[in-house]
Amino acid sequence: MIYIFLGAPGSGKGTQSKMLQKHLGIVSISTGDALRSEILNKSEIGIKAKSFMDSGMLVPDDVVIDIIKSKIKNVEYEKGFILDGFPRTEAQAKVLDNLIKSLDKKIDKVFNFEVSDDVLIKRISGRFSCKKCGALYNHYFKTPNVKGVCDDCNSTEFESRLDDNEQTVKQRLEVYRQTSLPLIEFYKKKNLIVSLDASKISSLIFENLISSIKNNKQ
Ligand code: AMP
Repeated sequence: MIYIFLGAPGSGKGTQSKMLQKHLGIVSISTGDALRSEILNKSEIGIKAKSFMDSGMLVPDDVVIDIIKSKIKNVEYEKGFILDGFPRTEAQAKVLDNLIKSLDKKIDKVFNFEVSDDVLIKRISGRFSCKKCGALYNHYFKTPNVKGVCDDCNSTEFESRLDDNEQTVKQRLEVYRQTSLPLIEFYKKKNLIVSLDASKISSLIFENLISSIKNNKQ
């Protein structure tokens, strides 16, 4: 099972990939998460990636391709995997095709998470998380039950991603339109695209995702 999740920043593909990972017992690989952990570790890759990410630009292809190559080789990916946020350019998609072929596997489906720009900007610029347990919140859609206190662990410390401000979000959406939208055509030609209405609440999006995976197996 190999699934690819495409969608603009804030389309909910990260949340859905984590839900699907739990449901199917396969791993989800997020290049965004991998890069953020490289930055935290102040590694060479992290230092190289930081300025691109802070300004809402894509990190160079060779950097993310190396990350994906090293992850996919890992034995825990044998059962299959979900790619969240990779590929983001046609060059990345072509490398991925070759990589998957060399493993004698195939991509099962490419899910395209569709949402309007208005919703995306609110979802991203409003998002924040608990510093201690990582629980996710949003100033517009989901604030903690008690103001300033995490529902899950009672911590009072929260944080936002540096690249989640309105200015950077607009830049990320523009980059998405220019470099990632053509990927939808790329995978349409291969007859792999399934479009999902990602403006719904996450439980409904997940239902559609699961039924589309089941239909494919019949
Ligand atoms: P995300 O968490 O998927 O929204 O990614 C956050 C940032 O990481 C993006 O705005 C890019 O700067 C970088 N990034 C993540 N995945 C990729 C990728 N496949 N190619 C290039 N840059 C990426």
